[in-house]
Amino acid sequence: MPHTLQIRSRPPTDTVPSTMVVITGTAQKSALDRGGLPPVEQVRPGTWSVPVPIPISPLRYVLVYALELAGGGIALVDAGWGTDDAWNALRDGLALLGSAVEDVRAIVATHVHPDHYGLADRVRRASGAWVGLHAADAALLGERHVHVDGLITSMGSLLEVSGVPDATLPDLSQASVQIRTLVSMAGPDVLLEHEQRIDLPGWDLRAIWTPGHSPGHVCLYSEERRLLFSGDHVLPRITPHISFHSQKVPNPLGDYLGSLERLRELEPDEVLPAHEYRFANLSARLTEIERHHAARLAAIEAAIAERPGSTAWELATSLEWSRPWEEVPVFTRRAANGETLAHLVLLERRGRVRHEPGTPARFYLVDTSPGALAAPGPRGFLAGAAVCPEPPGDSTTSACAPSAPAAPDRPGGTG
Ligand SMILES: [Zn+2]
Ligand SMILES: [Zn+2]
Repeated sequence: MPHTLQIRSRPPTDTVPSTMVVITGTAQKSALDRGGLPPVEQVRPGTWSVPVPIPISPLRYVLVYALELAGGGIALVDAGWGTDDAWNALRDGLALLGSAVEDVRAIVATHVHPDHYGLADRVRRASGAWVGLHAADAALLGERHVHVDGLITSMGSLLEVSGVPDATLPDLSQASVQIRTLVSMAGPDVLLEHEQRIDLPGWDLRAIWTPGHSPGHVCLYSEERRLLFSGDHVLPRITPHISFHSQKVPNPLGDYLGSLERLRELEPDEVLPAHEYRFANLSARLTEIERHHAARLAAIEAAIAERPGSTAWELATSLEWSRPWEEVPVFTRRAANGETLAHLVLLERRGRVRHEPGTPARFYLVDTSPGALAAPGPRGFLAGAAVCPEPPGDSTTSACAPSAPAAPDRPGGTG
């Protein structure tokens, strides 16, 4: 599956230092540090974490959570990538807690990315389980009838408008493979909604809609057990990839920051993320991630102040990443471009930045000094450019994407 490298490509966002995060998954952390797979662990009575490998990814595994249900059977939070390796790891992991794939009654997916949702249908077919996914992510699966060539064309247009040099434009045929991977996945049985109580015997899980990383990302919270299943929304060390792809999700970073705020009211004893390791002190982590994006937004404003009329691509190349730009793989640069765009769109919404539509679009600071002419109202990027005919839907082209670990000693890491 050579295209999986592409799907897993992530922008080299820098890691947010997380000195205040309390690492509770110490075995997971040490496995991650030494490049291995963590053990299957009992997190709490009736709650297990089962690492499932993902192909060609520096993240290496997704943490599937198995929840023992009152009256028998188990539910899964996420399922894993749709490969035989993942299937075998899930089967073997469940065996350690005395369960089998056939015992699965429900699969609640935090979001549609292939490392979370890819295996869901196979588990469903083996067990008769129902599959739950938020409607906004399920809608992406519904894009299967979209003409793939049209999607590729509009993605190419987005890159051109971003100012990507011709010689650097990524291979568009690869992009089509990404799309086909996502659209080939079967739909859910249950559409999850914000604040929905998930129907799992013996559990009080409720869905918290946290769009941003994907439009239908959900976290799951148990008040009684004070556990938060955070999916890719909040991870202990890296920040999830937030990328602008299309007009369908006009402001993904704005959505994401709002979704972080949404978790402020929760007081979990422990956060169970889908990658890396479990941790405590959610509020500190939320603050760190917010500060990271605030610094990123400020850096982009400063770069525009220095070079008014920069394109998104020029800004992306001028920002600080976990590795020198020259060392960032070409396709990952594209993800970095999408992430830069997401920040630009938010700055535009906040009235800090404006763009001159065109190919490429050029960005300027808005003069906010007293007496300055009123800036034109916020306008979505590409709104006036008309280069992106009915776009494909955000995550159709998105990687599952926690942005990469920024550790400079990890060649696969992209922070
Ligand atoms: Zn993921
Ligand atoms: Zn993801």
